[in-house]
Amino acid sequence: MATHNLFMLPGDGIGPEVIGQVRRVLDWFKENGIATFNVDEGLVGGCAYDAHGAAISDADMDKAMAADAVLFGAVGGPKWDGVPYEVRPEAGLLRLRKDMGLFANLRPAICYPALADASSLKREIVEGLDILIVRELTGGVYFGEPKQITDIGNGQKRAIDTQVYDTYEIERIVRVACDLARTRNKKVASAEKRNVMKSGVLWNEVATRIGADEYSDLEFEHVLADNCAMQLVRNPKQYDVLVTDNLFGDVLSDIAAMLTGSLGMLPSASLGAPDEKTGVRKALYEPVHGSAPDIAGQGLANPIAMIASFGMCLRYSFNMGDAADMVDQAIANVLAKGLRTTDIMQEGMTQVGTNEMGDAVIEELGALAS
Ligand code: NAD
Repeated sequence: MATHNLFMLPGDGIGPEVIGQVRRVLDWFKENGIATFNVDEGLVGGCAYDAHGAAISDADMDKAMAADAVLFGAVGGPKWDGVPYEVRPEAGLLRLRKDMGLFANLRPAICYPALADASSLKREIVEGLDILIVRELTGGVYFGEPKQITDIGNGQKRAIDTQVYDTYEIERIVRVACDLARTRNKKVASAEKRNVMKSGVLWNEVATRIGADEYSDLEFEHVLADNCAMQLVRNPKQYDVLVTDNLFGDVLSDIAAMLTGSLGMLPSASLGAPDEKTGVRKALYEPVHGSAPDIAGQGLANPIAMIASFGMCLRYSFNMGDAADMVDQAIANVLAKGLRTTDIMQEGMTQVGTNEMGDAVIEELGALAS
């Protein structure tokens, strides 16, 4: 039985509550002889600030760097609103992303049939939706220099952000998207604004070359990012894997997220470059939602996004696609049976808390395994 090293950073608010349910899923995998996990746990966010005066300690950062994968809960909350900017809770996540070189952010948007009516779009547009947005995470306009506001006289100021992409940054993210498309429906759409941005021209050139030279088995399409936003709302099922830069990815992945209903349902993965010797990528898995201080400590949080993030970890870090499929199917079955946490509650369904939702997922895993 394979053993994997997992480093868990539950964080603040509902983070520990939802990670607690993943621990139960890990135990189930072990009890059923499928895999074992060496689990270590550290502090990130506000709790790390309280303990060490930093959003993540150097020691925990070292453990994250050494682990096969990191599972991250959520950080932040009103308690830490006033802490210095450099040590605010989010700084822990930013340091993890930066030091681990996590340049590829994967956000699946899956609409479970049982939740199709929770979407703001019509059932027929979203039912059965399964797309994967691959967002470049460490470059582009969020990091480019110069980045400043200057006084230009006459009571005027000038704000500058710089969109910068080098060839290698585009090559590696497009390759991640193409490799993933090979495991799915073999379709990649690359979104940029080549009509008005030089970075879009280069993005398009590089993506075209990588697609033609290395992935001629895939169907490769280029789409302008604004049109892509429209298409995501008009006919999202036309896409399989969608690759785009940091800024457009931020916006497009939020649009795609809302197609599926609730924040409590959305997992994500962030991957780094493959290790030269082992080929293993550094990776961090986290739900898209935050620490939800309004419901923290009440046993109300929906653990599905966190459990599905662990499912992505099985798929992308541990090469356990069958186990990941089981986790996804268990979630779909629980929803089909009408169990709902408050965030996804609908008329006629049965409202459950965090633990009961975890119980139900584990029960379904058992049924699927037997
Ligand atoms: P949030 O995602 O925490 O919550 C938004 C709303 O969704 C709340 O009403 C919350 O109760 C609900 N919600 C979120 N996740 C849920 C779940 N699993 N189950 C049930 N309901 C859920 O966003 P926010 O309120 O804007 O931010 C709260 C704190 O979280 C802030 O401090 C913010 O900085 C932080 N935050 C952290 C991350 C992260 O750790 N990656 C991401 C976003 C926000």
